[in-house]
Amino acid sequence: MVVIKTAREISKMMDACRISANALCVAGEAVKPGVSTYEIDEKVRKYIEKQGATPSFLGYGGFPASACISVNNVVIHGIPSKNEILKEGDIVSVDVGAFYEGFHGDNAFTFPCGTVSDNAQKLMDATRESLYKGIEAALAGNRVGDIGSTVQQYVENRSYSVVRDFVGHGVGTKLHEDPSIPNFGKAGRGVRLLPGMTIAIEPMVCEGHYAVEVLDDDWTTVTVDGKLAAHFEHTVAITPEGPKIMTIPG
Ligand code: MG
Repeated sequence: MVVIKTAREISKMMDACRISANALCVAGEAVKPGVSTYEIDEKVRKYIEKQGATPSFLGYGGFPASACISVNNVVIHGIPSKNEILKEGDIVSVDVGAFYEGFHGDNAFTFPCGTVSDNAQKLMDATRESLYKGIEAALAGNRVGDIGSTVQQYVENRSYSVVRDFVGHGVGTKLHEDPSIPNFGKAGRGVRLLPGMTIAIEPMVCEGHYAVEVLDDDWTTVTVDGKLAAHFEHTVAITPEGPKIMTIPG
C-alpha cells in the first residue's frame, strides 16, 4: 500500500532525512586510506545516536551495523569490518539511514578513497548524475517507470548497466514501503506518483554486467564479473511543486 504523507508529516520527516544526510557526510569525511570500514561505521553510529536518533539499518533484518559499506566490486549491503582496511584508489559506497521521531531517512553516496582511477571516477560521476536525472522525472502525475527508464537510459548510454535484483522504495514510518522504485523500466508504466509520496531513489550502477550475487554472509552483494559498482541515493518527496530532495545535510 502506497502511503501518502501530509505536508506536516513530510516536514517532520525532514529531520530524519537531515540526520541521515549529515551521517553520510560523517562517513565521507572518514573515508581515507588505512581506515577500517568498522571505524567509519562507529563514527556514523555515534553521530546518529548523539542526535537522539536510531540507525535505521542496525538490526534491520538482522543487519549487524549502522551503515552498509560496500567497497569496489561490492554493490550494496557490505558489512563493516575491522579487517577491511581502505586503500588508496578504492571506491567506497556508504548507505545509511536514521530513524527520528517516527520517520526514516535513507541515503547513499560512493566516495573516492584518495585518488581513484579515471574509470572509477567516471562510473561514480555517471551514477550520481543518473540519480539526479531520476529525481527530475519524479513529478506528480508521472509513473514509477518514468524514473526507472530515465535512470536506465542515462546509464546505458554511457555503456554501464543498472542492477536489476535490488531497487529503490517508498520510505516513511517504515524503512521500506511501497512502491518499489526500479532503476530500469518503461516510461509511462507502473504506479502513478502522487503528491505526498516519499521515495528512496537509488541507482546501483555496474561498470560491467548487472548480474550480482549475495555472498555466504547473506548480505554482501557483489558483481558477478568482479567489476566496480557505484550507488547513490536520496530520499525524495513528490510535491505539487516538483520533486523535493529531503536528504540534505544541515
Ligand atoms: Mg534505500
